[in-house]
Amino acid sequence: MTAPAQVPAGARVILASHNAKKLRELQRILAAAVPGLEPEQVVSSAGIALPDVVEDAVTFEGNALLKARAAAAATGLLAVADDSGLAIDVLGGSPGIFSARWSGRHGDDEANNDLLLAQLGDVPDVHRAARFVCAAALVAPDGAEAVERGEMTGTLLRERRGEGGFGYDPLFLPEGETRSAAQLTPEEKDAISHRGKAFRAVAAHVARLLG
Ligand code: IMP
Repeated sequence: MTAPAQVPAGARVILASHNAKKLRELQRILAAAVPGLEPEQVVSSAGIALPDVVEDAVTFEGNALLKARAAAAATGLLAVADDSGLAIDVLGGSPGIFSARWSGRHGDDEANNDLLLAQLGDVPDVHRAARFVCAAALVAPDGAEAVERGEMTGTLLRERRGEGGFGYDPLFLPEGETRSAAQLTPEEKDAISHRGKAFRAVAAHVARLLG
């Protein structure tokens, strides 16, 4: 049996995001899945002047690809980008790609959660199913592309629970859990989360492209 190919020491993967938590998660996942890839070889776009990307696609996959293509073109590196959100069954999949700005102000988690609680006030428990969705895209400088989707299913609570996580985590009870997503440790959440699943699927492509 031949040994798995090793990644060249100078190879770099860039994550098109300024989010330090996402970077650490991608570093952990890629280092575990790609033989010879060190966490330091996975870098974020923080501090790198990337052109602004207008996220005007109408799917998670489309927006993730837009961001990864821009990062690969600007840096000449293998680029990863993700786009994610919450899809609620009774709202026909909303807030979906509008999750970060559902209340009208981008990134206002408190207002977004308040609005959801008000919108779903009269919805009985049996109809409170929802899922987090993440599309993770990988684009190589030579134009090769892959995009993978991960989902975490669950139900929406009637009040916030827990202090951890971010976004809609305090309102989300993952399937099979008694704790909200905001009450899980980062490692527990990575193991079942939409982003963890999408990043692990992308890791297989990184191994193939760098190996
Ligand atoms: P982004 O794609 O990471 O920018 O996420 C878009 C929005 O979706 C965030 O601002 C959150 O409101 C929501 N979201 C995505 N992933 C999560 C998660 O793991 N927990 C809670 N909210 C999330």
